[in-house]
Amino acid sequence: MEKLNVPPENHVKVLGGQGWVGLIDHMGTETTFVNAARVSFGKLKKEMDERDIQLTEYLIANKHTSPLEHMVFTFSIHCPLFVRGQWHRHRTWSYNEISRRYTDFDIEFYTPPKLRRQAKSNRQASFADENFEDEALRKEIEKHHAESFKLYERLLENGVCREQARGVLPQNMMVTFWGTVDLSNLLHFLELRDSEHAQWEIREYAVAIKKLIKPLIPNVAEYFRKQGQDW
Ligand SMILES: Cc1cc2nc3c(=O)[nH]c(=O)nc-3n(C[C@H](O)[C@H](O)[C@H](O)COP(=O)(O)OP(=O)(O)OC[C@H]3O[C@@H](n4cnc5c(N)ncnc54)[C@H](O)[C@@H]3O)c2cc1C
Repeated sequence: MEKLNVPPENHVKVLGGQGWVGLIDHMGTETTFVNAARVSFGKLKKEMDERDIQLTEYLIANKHTSPLEHMVFTFSIHCPLFVRGQWHRHRTWSYNEISRRYTDFDIEFYTPPKLRRQAKSNRQASFADENFEDEALRKEIEKHHAESFKLYERLLENGVCREQARGVLPQNMMVTFWGTVDLSNLLHFLELRDSEHAQWEIREYAVAIKKLIKPLIPNVAEYFRKQGQDW
């Protein structure tokens, strides 16, 4: 059996190489949602033509979202716990995750490649400061990870169950989960998370997902590109 917490073949690395998102599977093509939009006419097309491209643009521009729900993607995501927390707020995805109640191996922690400063005007935001001397602080973060992990191991050695011992592992712990979502709700996720309002870490994943799905939805990507978005 293969391990789940290694990236699938089609993946993009993020967070300075510490995280990744991979495309496990997908169902449907752009023709699928174009056909779904025209289902009421009882006709089926095999390939996209110019009118289908116009229809695609119409569906997105007018938030005629239900045809887009006929295309579905499954991703494998390797990210810090705090990114998983933000991700799982998106209720229209289906999730399954490696459980620390069952496993106590392959535990790893995210150390930010660069620390950012707290924004003054917006309590949710941060900003990059090239002059931030963060090397010593990053080392302290790594030391904290190692000490937390030692305590975790000591608890296990002393017979504490995994489901309680895991409570001492920091938010920077990496987790791996699968997420499945339809195209309509994926576009909603990307709008919210590839945004300057989103935290840099989850934004990295949103940008990576765009790279993974662009070859599958070239006309959707082109629509957003024409709207001035990065795709
Ligand atoms: C920049 C940013 C900052 C955030 N800050 C905070 C914060 O400080 N605190 C916090 O708690 N959350 C925060 N969130 C999370 C946010 O409130 C949403 O929970 C998250 O973005 C998921 O969005 P969603 O509900 O639209 O997505 P989904 O859950 O995927 O839902 C998609 C759409 O389906 C519909 N829908 C889904 N479920 C229901 C329902 N039960 N009833 C009616 N309609 C539904 C809605 O139209 C919804 O927009 C933040 C999100 C972002 C992007």
